[in-house]
Amino acid sequence: MLLLPFSHLDGRPCIKVVRIVIIAFLFTRYQPYNIIRIDIRLIKDCPLSQVAFMSVMDIIKSIMPINTEKPVNNSKYETPDIIIKGGTLLTMVDGEAPIENASVHIKGDRVLDIRPAGISPSDEGTEIINADKCIVMPGLVNGHCHTAMTIFRGYADDLSLNEWLYKRIFPAEAAHATPENVYWGALLGCLEMIASGTTSLIDGYFYEDESFRAVHESGMRAILGQGVIDFPAPGVTDPKENLRIGKEFIEKHLHFSGLITPGLFCHSPVTCSDKTLARAMEISMEYSVPMQTHLSETRKEVDKIINRTGKRPALHLNDLGLLNKNLIAAHSVHLDDEEITLLSRKGVKVVHSPESNMKLSSGVARVTDMIDAGIKPGIGTDGCASNNNLDLFKEMDTAAKLGKVFTSDPSNLKAGTVLRMATIWGAGVMGLGDQTGTIERGKKADIIVVDTRSPNMTPLYNPVSSLVYSASGSDVKDVVVNGRILMKDRMFLTLDCKEITARVRAIGREIK
Ligand SMILES: [Zn+2]
Repeated sequence: MLLLPFSHLDGRPCIKVVRIVIIAFLFTRYQPYNIIRIDIRLIKDCPLSQVAFMSVMDIIKSIMPINTEKPVNNSKYETPDIIIKGGTLLTMVDGEAPIENASVHIKGDRVLDIRPAGISPSDEGTEIINADKCIVMPGLVNGHCHTAMTIFRGYADDLSLNEWLYKRIFPAEAAHATPENVYWGALLGCLEMIASGTTSLIDGYFYEDESFRAVHESGMRAILGQGVIDFPAPGVTDPKENLRIGKEFIEKHLHFSGLITPGLFCHSPVTCSDKTLARAMEISMEYSVPMQTHLSETRKEVDKIINRTGKRPALHLNDLGLLNKNLIAAHSVHLDDEEITLLSRKGVKVVHSPESNMKLSSGVARVTDMIDAGIKPGIGTDGCASNNNLDLFKEMDTAAKLGKVFTSDPSNLKAGTVLRMATIWGAGVMGLGDQTGTIERGKKADIIVVDTRSPNMTPLYNPVSSLVYSASGSDVKDVVVNGRILMKDRMFLTLDCKEITARVRAIGREIK
């Protein structure tokens, strides 16, 4: 009935349009994206005016439950393994608005399709994650952490970085960072990250074999760097062996898991010699794996390097051949303009850790200046001994607010930018921006569902703003990594929460 006026708009009945729109009605439920392309192609030949053409499009769009501008998938429909059904979908694809009442279909490790929320008969038998009144978004990427350091959570607070590190943490690690404690600490870190919506992490620590074992059991995606430092360290009593042990770690794990990339984590340019740093990068390049380091975390560290080399740290690292796309520079707090330009030009990845920098009074990284220079920084919690949690929702909130205080500009570091840092830019830091970090057909299914029914998420005007400024990790309801559900309705499916927390409580009693 609605079609008749449009078929007469140019004064002549147009049977072709009537036929097309009836077909649209019949097929919309099953092929909502495809029908638009069919209609555009057929209507082009019809003797209707432009106005009539647009009106027909409007009718078709009005019967579409969701955005019809999505790309077309003409492939034969496959039965998904998992459907995340309903809610508000935030794909984090640049320029793409939130999509209401969508379904994300997952097959194997990837996103198969994004469709209207209704489940067709062929979808029966698939695992359903109900996302009604929730936000569906890419999983968060923790760009810098020392997962196993959960065992030192709250052990040494309110101290300068120097006092904290040399007088408290290094001695505690020497006494208590055993392989077993690292394993249980890393499991607890994974548990905490999954519970707060993190699906990928970049970690560096000692006894990294144990962290590898824990992360592998958790099902998370990761880059794991074996700790390298020119002092005796846990598992590396003779510093001369640090790179040999690091290289063995890479060789052992390089092809073990599609989810975990091994690498090296050189503690810092003041705790590693120039020779160690340069050789570590050579090894990283040889195996095409990332190398991490803490860069210019404090002024004291910068001064030490200037006094020794006459150059600022980033320029010194450039002389050593370290600045390239393999390098992940954590913190990068004290950089001058020349260093920011250099890091950008060389493709170095940078990770911002505002809460750790605040807690240790290290300073504030020039995040907006880095972004203006073309760097896309990730965001990381750092270890639990300097934060003292691994909740990236808290970290995003802090990053956005600190950016405003630092520049006296409330429009600086907007919620959308910070959310990009924690998702697609974080994936870019991992070198996986084409694989994860957004929800798109064909990309890895690393997805979280955030419940918006909690008091702190009510009311909800803007999902991006609510996620950054109002949400907490405990609002995360479901977590999927690589197409596997790690948490459903806040129940852990890969890790035993009760056992892990009991074990780390016991370790805490030993350390105390
Ligand atoms: Zn760190």
